[in-house]
Amino acid sequence: MSKFLSKNYLGLKPYTPGEQPKDIRYIKLNTNESPFPPSKKTISFGKKALKKLNLYSDPEMRYLRDKAQEVFNIDKDEIMFTNGSDEILNFAFACYGDKGVAYPQISYGFYTVFASLYNLDKTEIPLKEDFSIDYKDYLNLNKLIVIANPNAPTGIIMPLWQIEEIVKNNDSVVVIDEAYIDFGGESAISLVKKYKNLIVTQTFSKSRSLAGARLGFGVADKELIKDLNTMRYSTNPYNVNSTTLAMGFGALEDNNYYLNNCKTIIANRDYLTKKLQELGFLVLPSKANFVFAKTDKIGGEELYLKLKSKGVLVRHFTTDSIKEYNRITIGTKKQLDILLNCIKQILGETL
Ligand SMILES: *Cc1c(COP(=O)(O)O)cnc(C)c1O
Repeated sequence: MSKFLSKNYLGLKPYTPGEQPKDIRYIKLNTNESPFPPSKKTISFGKKALKKLNLYSDPEMRYLRDKAQEVFNIDKDEIMFTNGSDEILNFAFACYGDKGVAYPQISYGFYTVFASLYNLDKTEIPLKEDFSIDYKDYLNLNKLIVIANPNAPTGIIMPLWQIEEIVKNNDSVVVIDEAYIDFGGESAISLVKKYKNLIVTQTFSKSRSLAGARLGFGVADKELIKDLNTMRYSTNPYNVNSTTLAMGFGALEDNNYYLNNCKTIIANRDYLTKKLQELGFLVLPSKANFVFAKTDKIGGEELYLKLKSKGVLVRHFTTDSIKEYNRITIGTKKQLDILLNCIKQILGETL
């Protein structure tokens, strides 16, 4: 770092995204992207928008919000779109973290980064032994609470009634990060009309095949959305570009295409889980587009490195309690068969 960097940021450790190496063509099962391309309609909407790139994008995002109102059964004052859901998470930490923030010790790595970015007092709550979240740990904390549901990188989901208990028993904002909710979970969006302290965030990056377009959103009571908009207009009112706005609209028009892809992913997840179990892996019960798995036959890091040398990328974390695991994104059946063959080879070599 330079000698000019503000001293507020000297200790800031940025988020490390999953690697995107370009030396060979890898089978990418490491960043939870969709293996399916965006729908034709999504792409054609994006192409049409290109002709108007001389104009600024609509900061009020009216078409997209109108469409979302219909798809998610909410009011258009209850939603705000952002540049990926990371951006709305960022705004929530900025807006509501002054009494401190609590989140699970094993969860999405960005929470710690945002907490240190804003110098928030942070409480990292351990998971239970089976890697699930104990909702009772989150009652009456009265600080900002952030929970990924399903959680990452475990894939384990918390039932909606437990989420409701947390929201009900805190006089503070609760953020439910539903990046993976479309892969078999029940969304907390249905609770937004009932509680004034709930923000549900979702993304078009995983279930809607638009990771590169950067589109996410939050649903919350309109007073919270007002706060979040203040933060948005104080940083970048044009945070979502017009091509992405148009593609987001196209994606919601084509919702069934994406929901069908999710069904395929769920079937492939069941397939991979069963095959890994047959090979002697422990696989955590996942409601996401990835599984988290380990085996006594080979260390987590060794398996990750050997798969990489065979051209298959999975995500390995070095944190002590999860270092024997790898997080494997659910790809196409063909990709998964290649992965499984590589694993068989590797296990054969280490016997
Ligand atoms: C991927 C992910 C996000 C953010 O994704 P964006 O691409 O920024 O929308 C947020 N939370 C979790 C838990 C994720 O896995």
